[in-house]
Amino acid sequence: MNELISTTLTSEAIKEKAKSLGADLVGIADGGLMDQFPPDPENSRTPSHITEIDGARVIVLAKRISFATSRLPAWNDQHKFYGDELLISALEELALDLVFWLEDNGAPGLMVPYHHVDPQKFIKGEDTQATHPLSAEHAAVESGLGTLGLNHQLITPEFGPRVILGLVMTSADIEPDAKMETSLCRGPECGRCLKACPADAVQHWDRDWLACDKFRSPFGFEFLSDYLTSVLKEPNQANQIGMLRGMESSEIFQAMLRGSGIITGCRRCADVCPVGDDYEDLLKKWVDEIPEETPEKLKRLEAMVAEAALPEAYEKQKRWIGKIELKN
Ligand code: SF4
Ligand code: SF4
Repeated sequence: MNELISTTLTSEAIKEKAKSLGADLVGIADGGLMDQFPPDPENSRTPSHITEIDGARVIVLAKRISFATSRLPAWNDQHKFYGDELLISALEELALDLVFWLEDNGAPGLMVPYHHVDPQKFIKGEDTQATHPLSAEHAAVESGLGTLGLNHQLITPEFGPRVILGLVMTSADIEPDAKMETSLCRGPECGRCLKACPADAVQHWDRDWLACDKFRSPFGFEFLSDYLTSVLKEPNQANQIGMLRGMESSEIFQAMLRGSGIITGCRRCADVCPVGDDYEDLLKKWVDEIPEETPEKLKRLEAMVAEAALPEAYEKQKRWIGKIELKN
């Protein structure tokens, strides 16, 4: 178990530094609590699984995504993928600068990679390819930055779900933040994330992560391994060469150059979410209408609203979703 080490640094000083480096939001989670409450007990990913030495506190850094990219309606617009990828790079640099600043002040810091797929553990059709070593969304809730929404996206009061997160762990003895207790999500009565989802992956306080993966990481590990397998299985060598010179190869090549479409992808659910101080003035007019809405989706939302009790999926995640008042 990670132990705290004494430091002259304070939470306030660390937050001030992170903001001066470009973070829009900063929270500090208690790594011990994250060890105690893994988001998925069957696939436990907590600070102690990464390090037994420097995970007593998890500093959560957030940068808002560009408003203009949220106003682009297509889920797969390349400007979104590219913009988000640049943001991830900026956040990584920010986190690295923070690590060295912490260490110059006597407090070791460890960055958690934004994206990691372990091919030894990945089981096609069962595992989600975009599972991170530590859930940044759950860490953000533990650090008081927000709560999880209907589809488990992180929602913050300032920018709704329109943030990208970075994590730095440390065992510096600094005061952690308290998490919010009441849900920020407006629930199925809102349901805008469900209406907009191109994969129809949004469920009742849950998400079909495998269906979502095909959109949030369209050229990710699964796409690459499926494609290479199909090339290997092709018996005709001329066809194989044709495949390697085809569209899929080109998409993989372009995606791998920057990570666009691999570590970034669909975020329609975030673009249309009405929570956030940024929504009314900067987004509503442009994202109010949802072309992906269908009568079937509306029917599913009506059924959710009519349910007398919250589903098991909510019970499993209620620590991070927060308290909800049923209107029935
Ligand atoms: S990221 Fe895209 S596919 Fe996944 S839940 Fe959100 S809208 Fe649906
Ligand atoms: S769009 Fe509505 S239902 Fe979905 S997460 Fe945001 S507030 Fe919740």
